[in-house]
Amino acid sequence: MTDKLPCEIQEIIDALAEKGHAAYLVGGCVRDRLLGFVPADYDLCTSATPDEMRKCFASMKVIETGVKHGTLTVVHRGRACEVTTFRTEQGYSDRRRPDQVFFTSRIEDDLTRRDFTINAMAYAPNGESGECIDLFGGRQDLQKGVIRTVGDPAERFTEDPLRILRAIRFAARLDFVIEENTFAAMEAHKALLAGIANERVTAELIGFVMGRAVRRVSEQAASILSSILARPSVVHDSLAKDPCVRLAALYRQSADSLAHLRLSKSMAHCVKTLLSYKAPLPQSQSEALFLLHEIGEEQAVKLCQFHEDTAALSLVMAAKESGMPYTIHQLAVNGNDLLQAGVPGRAIGCQLKEVLVLVMEGKLVNQKEVLLKHILEQQT
Ligand code: ATP
Ligand code: MG
Repeated sequence: MTDKLPCEIQEIIDALAEKGHAAYLVGGCVRDRLLGFVPADYDLCTSATPDEMRKCFASMKVIETGVKHGTLTVVHRGRACEVTTFRTEQGYSDRRRPDQVFFTSRIEDDLTRRDFTINAMAYAPNGESGECIDLFGGRQDLQKGVIRTVGDPAERFTEDPLRILRAIRFAARLDFVIEENTFAAMEAHKALLAGIANERVTAELIGFVMGRAVRRVSEQAASILSSILARPSVVHDSLAKDPCVRLAALYRQSADSLAHLRLSKSMAHCVKTLLSYKAPLPQSQSEALFLLHEIGEEQAVKLCQFHEDTAALSLVMAAKESGMPYTIHQLAVNGNDLLQAGVPGRAIGCQLKEVLVLVMEGKLVNQKEVLLKHILEQQT
């Protein structure tokens, strides 16, 4: 934790401190630093209001990402950092966003609204010997590897049921156990998950399946996850670390529930293909070429990974690298060549497909003269 901060972050903190405001690292970055990881991003919280912050950051680029909630994004020397005024939250009548946020001058209030003890620590790099504020035993839970809510778990999950999925995600990612009372409240309130926006569910599920302890947690949390997808399957840790492969594994027995996920078009298509492709996987180079032809490189690789079929995967990789064609564009002849050789325009598409199949079957060599000769023989 004594590791030096990136200088951009230190300078943002200094800009606040110079004008007499308290400034802390908070949340995920404190957790990750204590675990010895380099945080992906740094969140700061401060006693300064957004107006006061703007004055401190006069020489930096500021984006108004969430002023109403006290958040500004400062982009300083190419690094973006969210800075948020200390705040409390009250009322979650839509079970999603707090009805009102109140700014407060006390870091303690800000930490109390946070979800888990390991996420509710603050660190003051300018404080005496760089002090860590840990009101709820977050440090100890980090050491023991425990996910525990700040305060009463039933209350915290009722306020914001997304936290149920966040607990599952952090348990899988960090390989932590979920504390008993916290877990009991997650199970008791799992029905509330039905009310969460699909985009948020999707983001948490992707984080969860990518976690290194996904097998253990997907087993333990099966009944909770069944509030989201009909029959959650156990996801094995040995699976390739690819979100499509791992989501397909989770939805193996619940393909009908996939429609709820808010995935990009290409991810949705990929997961669907992995689950609907029922033909046997390739056992020869020729079969590997046909698979590549049918579903494309990326999905062919993922399909073998999804079925953990390393022999098929090797065949697909070898076929990909063999230089053998599996699309019409890779053939040694094109439409122009055929036209010039006198093949009627309407027959060209068909002819190309036909020779491609023969080449993939190994019955023709992918050489211009060979292919042309074959095609012209067909014409006569
Ligand atoms: P990650 O590394 O996945 O980003 P993180 O802890 O930074 O993990 P964020 O979603 O970025 O997670 O949230 C930042 C911090 O905000 C959390 O550490 C936590 O203190 C607080 N927080 C986020 N979401 C919630 C929530 N739903 N309820 C309460 N506190 C939350
Ligand atoms: Mg974060």
